[in-house]
Amino acid sequence: TNSRLRDKVALVTGASSGIGEATAESLAAEGASVVLAARRTDRLESLRQRLEEKGAQVLAVTLDVADERSCTEAVAATVDRLGRLDVLVNNAGVMLLGPIHQADTSDWTRMVNTNLLGSMFMAHAALPHLLDTRGTIVQVSSVAGRVARSGSGGYNATKWGINAFCESLRQEVTERGVRVVLVEPGAVDTELREHITNEAAKQAIDQFVTQIRQLRSADIANAVVYAATQPEHVAVNEILIRPTDQA
Ligand code: NDP
Repeated sequence: TNSRLRDKVALVTGASSGIGEATAESLAAEGASVVLAARRTDRLESLRQRLEEKGAQVLAVTLDVADERSCTEAVAATVDRLGRLDVLVNNAGVMLLGPIHQADTSDWTRMVNTNLLGSMFMAHAALPHLLDTRGTIVQVSSVAGRVARSGSGGYNATKWGINAFCESLRQEVTERGVRVVLVEPGAVDTELREHITNEAAKQAIDQFVTQIRQLRSADIANAVVYAATQPEHVAVNEILIRPTDQA
């Protein structure tokens, strides 16, 4: 293992599966202490055990990003137990695809509360500590935050929204040493698709991903580590990363 992030503390939201889990593993492999945050505590516990066996310092906290109080408590627990916060990986998200016409609008509520407001609450809670450490916010957005498509309007809205928020935040804090990094993946092989409630939309994407070599969660974790290990004067603003097979 390397140790480029030794003495750093990283909080990863949505660490119970997929990109968040892989990112927590990669940050720990670089020597960071990691805080694993999500709702499925059983998953966090098994990841915690795995990382501790490799010698990492790990804290698991229950987090629902849609609940602002839960966000402030997760950040407070991080600083109480580990003394500081250097890297926030805002990764928790849901992708409930489907047409706008006759959409189940509770899908929109969930996506706005999780992807958009959840990331905003976490950034708000973490920012005082990141200003102290001249730390980094890595925001997992999406190609869907750069390219809107028919059939994903609700999801597009949340990812475009978070991109705008992050660009505003970047301008506000970069001269105080806080770096804001947008990571925008294309199709990654994770559990994300499983939660789609619109059957036709789910079938369409399940079919699409059989035709391409998707990204692996570890590919995105590599991008996060790249951004988080740059020298302090280097701000990696944005990483757009698609599977080679995704046009
Ligand atoms: P997964 O479904 O595997 O992971 C999503 C994570 O988010 C889980 O750990 C889940 O944990 C967590 N999460 C969901 N809702 C909440 C909540 N209310 N509070 C806290 N945690 C929550 O999918 P991915 O790893 O693919 O998704 C991670 C991010 O990557 C998302 O923001 C997604 O939009 C983005 N992304 C993914 C792409 C892909 O193709 N897979 C492409 C582009 C972007 P739990 O349920 O335990 O709370």
